[in-house]
Amino acid sequence: MSDFAIAAPTPVSIPVAGDGRFPVRRVYCIGRNYAAHAVEMGHDPDREPPFFFQKNPDNLDPSGEFPYPPKTSDVHHEAELAVALKSGGTNISVGDALSHVFGYAPALDMTRRDLQGEAKKMGRPWEIGKAFERSAPIGPLQPVSSVGHPDSGRIVLKVNGETRQEGDLNQMIWKVPEMIAYLSDYFELASGDVILSGTPAGVGPVQRGDALEVTVEGLEPLRVTVV
Ligand code: MN
Repeated sequence: MSDFAIAAPTPVSIPVAGDGRFPVRRVYCIGRNYAAHAVEMGHDPDREPPFFFQKNPDNLDPSGEFPYPPKTSDVHHEAELAVALKSGGTNISVGDALSHVFGYAPALDMTRRDLQGEAKKMGRPWEIGKAFERSAPIGPLQPVSSVGHPDSGRIVLKVNGETRQEGDLNQMIWKVPEMIAYLSDYFELASGDVILSGTPAGVGPVQRGDALEVTVEGLEPLRVTVV
């Protein structure tokens, strides 16, 4: 029984490694969080305040396939560590932040770079470049109880077996606890929220047929085919 006026959309969830599913509420993404990537995008890597944009919960896609999206000819890969929250709140302290984390997953912040570039140039929002269908492929969500809190270790993206992006989680300008604390000053965080923590240098275009692999040291990898 429900009193919804129309058919209710399917609740969004992603698989947890081993067992069960994680229900998704919101998706926050940090921009330019590795110095070498900030430089390659034409910015100064100084520690300015972080900035965030959002993707839609149903942009997260655990299917292992990424359909090349419409209205673009320059879709880029951005390999990122995803952080999934089991609880939240406001004004969370850096010291308390990790107690809100349920687990971690390798993910991709796929980007229509040409559309993002036009939006930047015109001072417009980024959603058209960032928040499109299936724009956030995500691997198995691995609970803190089995993987701890990875704060160092290699993050690598390979395309067809060739390394394209490479960095270390310890190169993040804003660390995971700082991102949680910062976001909670502006938004009310809650269970089901997912944070994409930024990408190392080496972003670049993908083509249909490419096999992408994101590995984060200590986590099971994400493998995605561009279709
Ligand atoms: Mn990104």
